[in-house]
Amino acid sequence: MNVGSASLSDLVVERVGFGIFVLDRDMNVVMWNRFMQDHSGLSPEQVVGKSIFASFPELPRVWLARKIESVFTLGSFAFSSWEQRPYLFKFDHDRPITGGVDFMQQDCTFMPLTREREVVAVCVTICDVTHVSIVQREREEAVAKLQEYADRDGLTGIANRRFFEARLRDEYIRWERYGGDLSVLLFDLDHFKKINDQFGHLVGDAVLRVMAQRVAEVVRAQDVFGRFGGEEFALLLPCTPLDDAMLVAEKIRQTIGGLPVEVQDAKVPVTASVGAASARTGMPAYDVLINEADAALYSAKRQGRNRSVAFS
Ligand code: GH3
Ligand code: MG
Ligand code: MG
Repeated sequence: MNVGSASLSDLVVERVGFGIFVLDRDMNVVMWNRFMQDHSGLSPEQVVGKSIFASFPELPRVWLARKIESVFTLGSFAFSSWEQRPYLFKFDHDRPITGGVDFMQQDCTFMPLTREREVVAVCVTICDVTHVSIVQREREEAVAKLQEYADRDGLTGIANRRFFEARLRDEYIRWERYGGDLSVLLFDLDHFKKINDQFGHLVGDAVLRVMAQRVAEVVRAQDVFGRFGGEEFALLLPCTPLDDAMLVAEKIRQTIGGLPVEVQDAKVPVTASVGAASARTGMPAYDVLINEADAALYSAKRQGRNRSVAFS
């Protein structure tokens, strides 16, 4: 078989799976391959010899003209990734609509075509990267979801201990630098073992869920409410002095104890004990704040439960 090298490269340009076209310095189209024809619906006869903007008025005129001009001037390659500019041409893509992208996502290369060290034209390639962009978008969504799960407690849906402590550490650092007030409440349901024994562990779980929900409804948006352990919860109160923290403690205690929890035809009376502590100058680290709230909680338990005690 006798195939000339010129016709072979023509064949490659024609058949290759990405867009190739060539522009002169006046933005006139010099060459237009099959990919460009198939996706734009315009044949070489319709576009060659005319300004690219005559055939595609919706193209980003200023941006594209500047890009092409820079390749002529500098004689070096230029690129555009779908992450900066999702597409140059409004081409349909062959992905299901559920992918969430409107048009074919494109990576573009702008290549100088040089003759005797002078750029005579610019070759533009258009690569369909729709699948990459969809995979990337899905990955970002999955990571965000995982992040969300990583911060939450599985049973109650509120913040878990790891997330709570991270936020406490942040708030503590802020307090150390800027001063103000910072308080922490720890609360623990009273005689929860008995609740489990009397009603069963599943009812116990439901009680924890309902309690968490009730308390979550009364805390402020800027407060962090987390599950600290089994039936022990914590509330981080930024910009709150101890006196005010005690008012919050009482509100929470009453929210929990005010009304029995109804699960599976059972009415379960629940109360909680609360310990409160505030950051003070000279405090060495944020975990001391937790220890002091815990000591106050222990004291509330010893004094008979269903009460709030401030660390002193
Ligand atoms: P008090 O705090 O008033 O001193 O008594 P308590 O009975 O609540 O004491 P303690 O803190 O020692 O026991 C907590 C019990 O909570 C033990 C455990 O069986 C139960 N518990 C911990 N986590 C869960 C959970 O996720 N679900 C259920 N149903 N029970 C739990
Ligand atoms: Mg308890
Ligand atoms: Mg406990």
